[in-house]
Amino acid sequence: MAAQGVTPRSEDYSRWYTDVVKMADLADNAPVRGCMIIKPYGYELWESIKTALDVRFKATGHRNAYFPLFIPMSFITKEAEHVEGFKPELAVVTHGGGKELEEPLVVRPTSETVIGHAYADWVQSYRDLPILINQWANVVRWEMRPRLFLRTTEFLWQEGHTAHATEAEAREETLSILDQYADVAINECAIPVIKGRKSDQEKFAGAAESYTIEGMMGNTWALQSGTSHFLGQNFAKAFGIQYLDENNELQYAWTTSWGVSTRMVGGVVMAHGDDKGLRLPPRLAPYQVVLTPIWKTDEDRETVFGFAKLVNDRLCDVGVRTHVDEREGLSPGFKFNDWEMRGVPVRLEIGPRDVAGESVMAARRDVPGKEGKQVIPVGELATRIPELLDDIQAGMLQAATEFRDAHLFEASSYDELKEQVADGWSLIWHCGTPECEDRIKEETKASSRCFPLSENSEWHPEGATCAVCGKPAFGKAFFARAY
Ligand SMILES: [Zn+2]
Repeated sequence: MAAQGVTPRSEDYSRWYTDVVKMADLADNAPVRGCMIIKPYGYELWESIKTALDVRFKATGHRNAYFPLFIPMSFITKEAEHVEGFKPELAVVTHGGGKELEEPLVVRPTSETVIGHAYADWVQSYRDLPILINQWANVVRWEMRPRLFLRTTEFLWQEGHTAHATEAEAREETLSILDQYADVAINECAIPVIKGRKSDQEKFAGAAESYTIEGMMGNTWALQSGTSHFLGQNFAKAFGIQYLDENNELQYAWTTSWGVSTRMVGGVVMAHGDDKGLRLPPRLAPYQVVLTPIWKTDEDRETVFGFAKLVNDRLCDVGVRTHVDEREGLSPGFKFNDWEMRGVPVRLEIGPRDVAGESVMAARRDVPGKEGKQVIPVGELATRIPELLDDIQAGMLQAATEFRDAHLFEASSYDELKEQVADGWSLIWHCGTPECEDRIKEETKASSRCFPLSENSEWHPEGATCAVCGKPAFGKAFFARAY
């Protein structure tokens, strides 16, 4: 474990990211290029995000299930746009049990097809609807330019798949999930995401409409952090998900799908990290508080450790996630830097003087130096530490929101957009056509992120035109560099 510094962000943002992920012990590269080994500290971070999502899904009537990893090749080809979109990323199994398979199997890139096949069987009558199911799983999408957490060939995620009797219900589900995603991103991850609709080119392969939450990273680039798709009747028609309605007439169901992946861990790193390393929002942090006993003599060691145990018990009693750094042979300075680099929100320093004073010195990760330090008497730990953690959580969201707002711009011409996307996101009237998006991407490297819901009360508003090509506008879209 090294406490040497990470590459400064201003020097090389991409190197900084890789340094933080590796040095903070979140993940490592795997023997197969594009795959990753998620280490315990990184996995615990994912588990916090996972739990936050899972409780929200369950509170809104969804249940978890599990569908197979392998999908018959013929399933993938049933929905024309779906196969077109996913073909270049598929991993295909041609042999099993030592023999060539009659039909190749696809390692799931996503599960609309295999789940659609099951739903066709489960759904007979309107009484069988809605079906509200989520699965926690791994998926594989072959990745040519992999980056830990952000783009990996195999990644972990949840994928929700719902089927409804009416279009209105399916649309409501799509947007309700988008709200839940935004809630987790904002209130747990402290990333003030923007909710929006994807352009035709950027939408999910096979969806009627795709919605997204987009977060701003520390270099102002955007990260698509979760998507919710209104699939219309596309998959219901491809897989025959039909039901008899109340009038005994056969109808196709309306379906949705939605996902958040381990990509979100990369988002947390990039939205909050600084030149000292990771900064974790308390609600996600595997260790919210680290206790570092400081001692010189054996006698001190005994008293300091005894006191640390007492402090630790007080915090565990009130549900604070703690860790006591008992490592021998490392200086306090080394340990402080190490936990700072690993983004622990609060560090408690406990030396012989603290024991004598029946108090601890608390240092905040988000406020450097003396300003972030305070003495807390043992008797007040149970109330003041949870308050401090809430304060840090709120402070991190506020800082990220201020940073975001300082880099959101509105352009009235293509020239303005070009300037703005060099260091931020640019909102502009846009036609939403692939040709126009491709041109912008080629000339500025910025892509269409979304048509933010807060800025668009209707699509194709009368008289509005694209500020880039002059065609009728679909709405106002954000353009930005993106991961
Ligand atoms: Zn245009």
